[in-house]
Amino acid sequence: MFSRNAIKFEAIAGLALVALVLARSASRAEDTIASKHDIERVEKFKAVVIDGVEARRKLAQVMNDTVFSFGELAYQEFETSKYLTDLLEKNGFSVERGVAGMPTAWVARWGSGRPVIALGSDIDCLPKASQKPGVAYREPLVDGAPGHGEGHNSGQAVNIVAALAVKELMEREKLSGTLVVWPGVAEELLGGKAFFVRAGMFKDVDAVLFTHVSDDFSTSWGQPTGTGMISVEYTFEGESAHAAARPWRGRNALRAVELMNIGWDFRREQLRPEQRSHYVITDGGDQPNVIPPRASVWYFFREMDFENIKKNYQIGNKIAEAAAIMTDTKVTRKVIGTAAPRHFNKTLAETLQSNIERVGLPQWSEDEQTFAKAVQRLAEGKEDGLNIAVKKLEPPAARPESGGSDDIGDVSWAVPTVTLRYPANIPNLPGHNWANAIAMATPIAHKGIVAGSKVMAMTMIDLLMRPELIQSAKTYFTNVQLKNNKVLPLLSESDQPQIQLNRETMERYRPQMRKFYYDASKYNTYLDQLGVKFPTLTKAQ
Ligand SMILES: [Zn+2]
Repeated sequence: MFSRNAIKFEAIAGLALVALVLARSASRAEDTIASKHDIERVEKFKAVVIDGVEARRKLAQVMNDTVFSFGELAYQEFETSKYLTDLLEKNGFSVERGVAGMPTAWVARWGSGRPVIALGSDIDCLPKASQKPGVAYREPLVDGAPGHGEGHNSGQAVNIVAALAVKELMEREKLSGTLVVWPGVAEELLGGKAFFVRAGMFKDVDAVLFTHVSDDFSTSWGQPTGTGMISVEYTFEGESAHAAARPWRGRNALRAVELMNIGWDFRREQLRPEQRSHYVITDGGDQPNVIPPRASVWYFFREMDFENIKKNYQIGNKIAEAAAIMTDTKVTRKVIGTAAPRHFNKTLAETLQSNIERVGLPQWSEDEQTFAKAVQRLAEGKEDGLNIAVKKLEPPAARPESGGSDDIGDVSWAVPTVTLRYPANIPNLPGHNWANAIAMATPIAHKGIVAGSKVMAMTMIDLLMRPELIQSAKTYFTNVQLKNNKVLPLLSESDQPQIQLNRETMERYRPQMRKFYYDASKYNTYLDQLGVKFPTLTKAQ
């Protein structure tokens, strides 16, 4: 039964509801007007930063070619870091050097307030990959020397050019925000980023935009193809003896290494097919007539998730101990690096992708395509030239495939992170090889860097102007990524960056390599300095 009062109440409630709806739709209309204005502003700013990147095309080429010519191995990136930090300081960034216990690590900051956007890219190169750029044949610049056989010489140019273009706009428009630029030190040893995270480098960061050289223009979210890993060196200690006169007096450390390797290789059959593991003997003794009193072997244990990485690491430790028992030697181990499996942020990937699609792949010239095919032929890869189409952003695979690791994984569990793969290299090459260095100081790399830089700059504008994106990235990070995955620490408190690695190799080759450092004050490009006419398809006889 309805009372009058109840009817009256209903009527009033009804009126209130109508009023509320009207008010809401009014505010929605205001929202629309405001957001339309915001969208126009974002678009205007994006046009400005694209011009800002274009204006720095020369700077991008000089940075890329200079870092290429330094060719520095993991932990020995001294010339590279000096050059980049000087450049950032000259452009108004404040630089902190020697961070996280690594002399070649640094972090550069500019601006104030939120959001804090951190741009990262690797800087180290690979052993024995020295190669003359711009020629489709094998020719080291310095025989046996390291070289950029992956293309880590290009990423800081992508980031810094984007940061400078955005900084210029932020100054003019007085926009709030902090830009952080940081290097992936010793990425080829998976030996930098876990230490950065442990040192708190990303504590106040809202989003990490990472860049990595590629032959396509893409990004991804969730877990990509690839693994995480623990890198560890086992050292066996025995006793030396005359290998012919009194071999029974010795305890052979090299035999322990061999037994460990045999044990591991037999055990592989019982491991998940997704695992990847490999080793090199870093110390196999001195000469045959001395029983090796000391020998070392360096392992990478790779797997798809934290639990399986740790499991295989523990199996490795057990086999090492068993090898020590068999040979009456003692074994110790030292963790050299770790990489968490990667997990990228959905919101950040979608934002990047929208800008990738707007920029598109560079317009490759006939010469560039011909050159790319010649290099593919040389490296015995499929001869289909440079990529011309942008890939769609696909949801992550239900079962990602196995493969390599990247210590950006460690950063990806500390802060919302995404990787932009920019098109600066040739497809279908072996990877970690001198052939991957050939394009990396040519117009192919230069064009790919500028395209990547535009995407980075536009994405930074999105993040600076649309706080809801940062919010959404954080929601995904907390409510999806961290909720659905079990994260286990791979690095222990006592593990330290092994900054002595590669020191001797770099000292041996640097004097010869110095003669090939790029002098941008004298030569337009590094190819000009080397006297290479691009594209050179065959070696002059
Ligand atoms: Zn890399």
